[in-house]
Amino acid sequence: MIEIPVKSGKRNELIDVTNQVQEAVAKSGVNEGICVIYCPHTTAAITINENADFDVKRDIIDALEKLVPENAGYKHAEGNSDSHIKAALMGNSRTILVQSERLILGTWEGIFFAEFDGPRDRKLLISIK
Ligand code: ZN
Repeated sequence: MIEIPVKSGKRNELIDVTNQVQEAVAKSGVNEGICVIYCPHTTAAITINENADFDVKRDIIDALEKLVPENAGYKHAEGNSDSHIKAALMGNSRTILVQSERLILGTWEGIFFAEFDGPRDRKLLISIK
């Protein structure tokens, strides 16, 4: 298992981690298989989406902030229920096919660590088989 450190700088943020994951896949020596990425946090998530136009990241965050407002009478005493809900909507893992020590991603796709309660020091866990 490989651990990738992620440092977020905002409360809600999508951080492109494609290069770090690809580097881990290249080092693994796995020619054909799968790469499982797991986000071990209850207020962060992992997603795959467009990394060509920067505005897509902004639009996703803006839409999530509208869908799940920060203060909406939640019961959770820690005061970050919106963070938990956004993380639950996005999900905490992804599986990507690997061929010739490369991630198989679409032309415009990137892998994003989705921070919903930053800024914090976080990590992603990866297994390549
Ligand atoms: Zn909480």
